[in-house]
Amino acid sequence: MSKRGDPPGRRAAWTGFLAAFLALVLVLALQVASLVRLERASLLAGNAVLSGFLDAVATEVLYTYGPAAERTLDVPASYFARDDVGRAAAYFRRKDLEGAKRLFVVRFGDADWGTVLFYDPETGTMTLAPASDETRAVTVACTPWKLLREKAIALDTPRLVVEERDPANRVILNPITDATSRIVGVAGLILDGDYFTSRLLPNAVRSCLPRYFPDGGDAVVVSVRDGSGALRFTTDPGGDGRADLTRPIPFVFTDHSLGVRSRTLTPEKLARVNFGFNLTLSVLVAALMAGGLVLALRATAREVKLARMKSEFVSNVTHELKTPLASIRVFAEHLRRGRAAAPEKAREYGEHIEAESLRLTNLVNNVLDLSSIESGRKAYAFAPGDVGKVLAATLAAFRVRLLHEGFDLELDEPEEPLPAARIDPDALGRAIHNLVENAVRYSGDSRWVGVRLTHRDGEIAISVEDRGIGIPESEQERIFERFHRVSTGLVHDVRGSGLGLSIVRHVVEAHGGRVEVSSRPGRGSVFTIRIPVAGVPDGPAKG
Ligand code: ADP
Repeated sequence: MSKRGDPPGRRAAWTGFLAAFLALVLVLALQVASLVRLERASLLAGNAVLSGFLDAVATEVLYTYGPAAERTLDVPASYFARDDVGRAAAYFRRKDLEGAKRLFVVRFGDADWGTVLFYDPETGTMTLAPASDETRAVTVACTPWKLLREKAIALDTPRLVVEERDPANRVILNPITDATSRIVGVAGLILDGDYFTSRLLPNAVRSCLPRYFPDGGDAVVVSVRDGSGALRFTTDPGGDGRADLTRPIPFVFTDHSLGVRSRTLTPEKLARVNFGFNLTLSVLVAALMAGGLVLALRATAREVKLARMKSEFVSNVTHELKTPLASIRVFAEHLRRGRAAAPEKAREYGEHIEAESLRLTNLVNNVLDLSSIESGRKAYAFAPGDVGKVLAATLAAFRVRLLHEGFDLELDEPEEPLPAARIDPDALGRAIHNLVENAVRYSGDSRWVGVRLTHRDGEIAISVEDRGIGIPESEQERIFERFHRVSTGLVHDVRGSGLGLSIVRHVVEAHGGRVEVSSRPGRGSVFTIRIPVAGVPDGPAKG
């Protein structure tokens, strides 16, 4: 038997492994490339969501002030006539814009040039504005329009204007023109800063969050800083108001900036974490696949080896069958032709025939044992029995063979009878037979076999010793595998099936015992079967 294996089979297995491995590496590389792309895409997507959210909040602010201011401040030009100022008050009474701390008109009439009149919601009248910061802010805001009126410049399509030079008094103005497009005055409002930060912003954020973060608004922190950088609003009062993305507020409070930050991770971190997670997963899957490949390769190698061993087994067994059959035929022919005239000769031939048939029987038994062990049908009939008797019967069957082959058999057994052990005498006998058979076959030039029977510590031990070719240390465990034969040294000279020891081990383990080997190449071997005296069940048992 050769240990080099089947080179074409092994090469095919390795080629398959290499191809599968390269494919795996390629798949992994493609996966990493697509993960890198995905990382970039998810970063952009993450930023796009945050950015979309900020735009939505900004739009909400714009739509709260813009159209409402347009409706509230669309005071008819005729109300700016000196006597009709009461009508402007009535007009404002019906409007009442939330978020304005003051509504006013400024008349550019000929008599009162630039008079600022505040609407007083308590009395429902227009009153002359006192000298105050508010009045100053309004006057400053109206100056450009006053100049237009002075220069009699027509204004085709007046539009809302926001003047925020005084951050405490931000003004929205609507220049009012008459039928000839001349400015007659300005209707306006002063924004309520508190309303902006404590009512409008929270409402706008609350209404936009579910649209962009359906899994819960807790995912982000929204904050607003004023022109000086002071934090004016945040959804996370305990936090520092940091923002990953900012946007100026349009139309009003334009010096304020609206910011948003992912509470758990920034889009960059999220993309990186996703990337890391997916990469780990891919590597893990690849490792599992590689592990599977290695296992498959090993299984293939094992199958290839087993197939080779089986074919060697068939050729070995065929030879093993042929040899005793040839001897039997020769001796039988001698007898038939009357070549054994002397009775001793006839007995000698008869003994040869008997010994060879015994070898044949043993081989056939081993093959049958293997097949029943392999199919799980091996049955043992355990009963209390005398191991000494089994040993004696087995050795008796060898007597003729040992004699003819010039062997010296040394038997060492205790004088007192052994306690009964629960054994299957047939199976145990065959196991001992296999050991003695091996001792004889692998004896090389030596012609000595020692058998020793002992009883100690609740165990009966049967040792079969030879001074033959021995077994290398590295092979001493594997020789118990079915079909395994040592491939080195003198063993090549001995034909065999590779079944004997695997059957010995199976039989001994079925008896609740174990088989041991101690051997040195060139010095010989000792095989020892150890069987417990108690503890084996009666009756048939499956092995
Ligand atoms: P077989 O002897 O038919 O090949 P076994 O299963 O009985 O099968 O033995 C397996 C192998 O163990 C043998 O091929 C041989 O290499 C080695 N072996 C078994 N017994 C001995 C021994 N007494 N001395 C040296 N080698 C042995």
